[in-house]
Amino acid sequence: MGADINCGQCYYCQRGLYNLCIGKKILGRDVPGGYAEYIWLDKQILENGIVCPVTNEHLSSSVATLAEPLASVLNIHERLHTGSEHVVVIIGGGPIGCLHAKVAQMRGAFTILADIDVKRLEIAQKLIQHGVFVHSGTQNLLESVRRLTDGLGADIAIVACSSKSAQRQAVELVKKRGIVVFFGGLPKGDSITQIDANLVHYGEVTITGAFSYAPWHVCSAIELLSSERLNVQGFVQEYSLTDAPKLFERLGGGVGEADVLKPVLIP
Ligand SMILES: [Zn+2]
Repeated sequence: MGADINCGQCYYCQRGLYNLCIGKKILGRDVPGGYAEYIWLDKQILENGIVCPVTNEHLSSSVATLAEPLASVLNIHERLHTGSEHVVVIIGGGPIGCLHAKVAQMRGAFTILADIDVKRLEIAQKLIQHGVFVHSGTQNLLESVRRLTDGLGADIAIVACSSKSAQRQAVELVKKRGIVVFFGGLPKGDSITQIDANLVHYGEVTITGAFSYAPWHVCSAIELLSSERLNVQGFVQEYSLTDAPKLFERLGGGVGEADVLKPVLIP
């Protein structure tokens, strides 16, 4: 199941833009059942929610938890038609950044993944294996990207972290007519950012956001996770429910907890 329950009625739903639904409800937030073993599916959930068949009985529940973030990642790459002609820079080597690299590579693109945290970058490198990895804490990302693209810049830069400086830098990393994607939001109440408007104007750079997914992206994600087309081995770590308080405490520490990529609580 996807977590989103669309209203099916609003301006956006009527145009198939379900991820932008203004009456959206979220399972586990607006509808109870986030940590329950069973949840009640009412008529609206069955009609407008996202229920996908799982055809591969070997798909574990833990790996299936990646379907939701993967669906969001698939949404933007489908929109951008990411392909073999593209160099894609990803800023942020967390689970979302790693999924972007995997999906972009699956679609044939060359990827450059950057992170300021060396530990996180090492984990990302182990998981993704291919492409170039830049430790932006000690290496100059702009120079690296230009060197790898004959001085032109990347076709697509994805900001897969909640960072104003990463958003600002992403605009510098793309070539003319390049596309910058703000995949991560900024903290509420502190979301005003600065970018070089002249790079956007003279370079005809496009800046776009990416949020959530349509029902079919969740089903595609389940299919991909069930197949061998997308290897996500090592992305998920299982923890017992009793470890939850300690885990939440550690995750509250931010980038210092780079070894925790995508924790799954097993009751
Ligand atoms: Zn709607």
